[in-house]
Amino acid sequence: MPACAALIVAAGRGRRFGGDLPKQYRMLGGRPVLRHSLAVLAAHPGIRTIRAVIHPDDRPLYDVAAEGLPLAEPVAGGETRQESVLRGLESLADEAPDHVLIHDGARPFLTLSLIDDLLAALEEHPGAIAALPVADTLKRGAEGLVADTVPRDGLWRAQTPQGFHFDAILSAHRRAAGRALTDDAAVAEAAGMAVALVPGSEENVKITTAEDLARAQRLFEGPGMPRIGSGFDVHRLVPGDGVTLCGVRIAADVSLEGHSDADVGLHALTDALLGAIGAGDIGQHFPPSEERWRGVASERFVRHAGALVAGLGGRVGNVDLTLICQRPRLAPHRRAMAARVAALLEVPAERVSIKATTTEGLGFTGRGEGIAAQASVLLHLPR
Ligand code: MG
Repeated sequence: MPACAALIVAAGRGRRFGGDLPKQYRMLGGRPVLRHSLAVLAAHPGIRTIRAVIHPDDRPLYDVAAEGLPLAEPVAGGETRQESVLRGLESLADEAPDHVLIHDGARPFLTLSLIDDLLAALEEHPGAIAALPVADTLKRGAEGLVADTVPRDGLWRAQTPQGFHFDAILSAHRRAAGRALTDDAAVAEAAGMAVALVPGSEENVKITTAEDLARAQRLFEGPGMPRIGSGFDVHRLVPGDGVTLCGVRIAADVSLEGHSDADVGLHALTDALLGAIGAGDIGQHFPPSEERWRGVASERFVRHAGALVAGLGGRVGNVDLTLICQRPRLAPHRRAMAARVAALLEVPAERVSIKATTTEGLGFTGRGEGIAAQASVLLHLPR
């Protein structure tokens, strides 16, 4: 597979938006606009390096948007978008990826499948952009009146990501420096590169105005397609010094036995998330036979499953998780566990319910031999 890097352009000041906060850092569905596409890129297995180009004044805002994601150090942008892209490309020159995807930080509805389509097109063409055919009739206006009708045959609206063979687009951008071109495809065209059109989507909007953000908010909060998932897991209790349940460490005279940190709650939750999107189970994604998962924090598994959900444009409606054990006593920790799970899934805490029950001394949980967990999740996927 060719090595691919992604460049997220987020250095704009958003003058058309108004207010002090640049649009890419406004909140959408509880996270900064920029975080949405960063998280999707981070979830794609075909992308090796992700680098944002930001305004140096925005560093604290960027750090919030990027928290916990595996991203390269951001670089400072220039006066114009074109200059910012050139700086970003120059910053990748040493690494010299085969391909690069360039994406606007203000387009939060990026999906894994659009990335797949662009990467596939780059196997055959030096450039490939997300675009949509123009459906409306186009008029040329003059002084408020229709001057004439412009044939729309063959006209497309360009979106991002726009993908290119790295060496070719870097030299095209170097040569185009100082000329005002409206997108990276225009830079590629000026250099004579063939650029393929890959169908984008109507949802893949760029947030430019406050109305755009309001519309995106409605799109984000709309009902979507409901999908439910359930997960179940058990781990054995052995003498020890405490357990980690739903990401919270609880002191006890027992520990959970397992390959990872044996957080039975987060394992059930991971399986529920994977189940809701039909993506297999935790064992397929993190095989216990692989040494690299030994002792890892199970939060990593939840973040992975959450990223796959986000990559489909999905979001978490709610989580209901039940821990089943005779000991240790869990009631005092329920609130902390709910807060931790909510943080992992990037949803408000009221969407996460953690319950604990005993089995009245019956069965393996009743005898204190192990802890079981079952999780249900409701997701909303785009229609
Ligand atoms: Mg397990």
